[in-house]
Amino acid sequence: MKYIGAHVSASGGVENAPINAHKIGATAFALFTKNQRQWQAKPLTEESITAFKQNCKKYGYTPEQILPHDSYLINLGHPESEPLEKSRAAFIDEMERCQQLGLVYLNFHPGSHLKKIDEADCLSRIAESLNIALDSTAGVTAVIENTAGQGSNLGHRFEHLAAIIEQVEDKGRIGVCLDTCHSFAAGYDLRTPEACEQTFAEFERVVGFDYLCGMHLNGSKSAFNSHVDRHHSLGDGNLGMSVFEFIMTDKRFDGIPLVLETIDESIWPDEIRLLQGLAAVA
Ligand SMILES: [Zn+2]
Ligand SMILES: [Zn+2]
Repeated sequence: MKYIGAHVSASGGVENAPINAHKIGATAFALFTKNQRQWQAKPLTEESITAFKQNCKKYGYTPEQILPHDSYLINLGHPESEPLEKSRAAFIDEMERCQQLGLVYLNFHPGSHLKKIDEADCLSRIAESLNIALDSTAGVTAVIENTAGQGSNLGHRFEHLAAIIEQVEDKGRIGVCLDTCHSFAAGYDLRTPEACEQTFAEFERVVGFDYLCGMHLNGSKSAFNSHVDRHHSLGDGNLGMSVFEFIMTDKRFDGIPLVLETIDESIWPDEIRLLQGLAAVA
């Protein structure tokens, strides 16, 4: 079973996200549980939490079909102690919000060394941040997203993901989300079935599909190996359609949220239908 959806708006309250997902014909969705561009957020209200759970039930979304995303401000590998502490506190708050909503995942971008510390040090800080967050929360798996490797962002090599996982103590609550645009921009080719076969075999060898908890399905405006993070609609740009046909017909991508972050949300219903059509052929 393929769970297919998009990163929908939670404006007006988290309880609106499942409604917005249902409107576009999604069987999965992503959301921010707070404003992603601000550090502070009001706690979720009891009413909002109850309404969120009711709407998820009403429209048939189980926690395994939902991939919440954390704030863009958080850097769990920050080289300086004060901003690192701020990030760690904000990440725990994000984990707690997911826990309150009965959710089981929190998707995050690993972190950036800001050219002040080396890669290995930064990856260890990220793992340490995760150990702290996992220790003080329960039931939520931290899901590392691979990146395009723009600027000093880590997570663009499968080896980075593996290094973080290796240093996380509770391996049962750490997972990975692969973004097709990020992978391609980071130098993992996905333009043909053969290239997909190879890239995902490398993922299996370095990280392992056991850790895969979700996918972000995006076309790419950026060029192959450009380390530039610019999403496009499915089939538009430099990535083509092969990778989406591949994912939709491969059992290793069953049972996890497959989430569009494509640039034209007015065509999300069409993109979801297109993907469902590809999955139906399998
Ligand atoms: Zn993404
Ligand atoms: Zn991106």
